[in-house]
Amino acid sequence: MPLKDKAARKAYAALRYQTHKDEWGPKYAAHREANREKNRTYAAAYYRAHRDDDGQKEVAKKRAAEYYRTHKEENRAKAATRRARLRALEAEKVLISELYTRDKGICGICHRRVEWEPKNPRMIPSHDHIIPVAQGGPNTYANARLAHLWCNQSRGTRGHGQPRLM
Ligand SMILES: [Zn+2]
Repeated sequence: MPLKDKAARKAYAALRYQTHKDEWGPKYAAHREANREKNRTYAAAYYRAHRDDDGQKEVAKKRAAEYYRTHKEENRAKAATRRARLRALEAEKVLISELYTRDKGICGICHRRVEWEPKNPRMIPSHDHIIPVAQGGPNTYANARLAHLWCNQSRGTRGHGQPRLM
């Protein structure tokens, strides 16, 4: 008996399912179990294909918020580590070019102009540690000033006095 009506077909299928539920139920479960890996792969592929959709973005946002909520302590510790690492990194990265700009091209020791590319290689700009590294001075911008290489080296060997004129 062919059923033309969609609703009737549906009702018939439901009835058939009700009648055979105990027999089919485990079969469906077994089928699901057998295809679990496949379904998961499919779900992942679906996610990849649709993750830029607004709905997916919403889902991802919610998931991220939930993750944040459940990993708060862990995240805080991670952030602290990251900050410490950043600080250490900054402390190592004092650029002569930055010092040159900041100190307006003036030597912090003899207070005269520093040429960016002088003819005399001993007068090139250099990074002078206000508190010398040997005395525990940090490698930071706060402890750095621009100086002629010559002034810097003279100060290094002779302490804080003004270097003699060339
Ligand atoms: Zn100088």
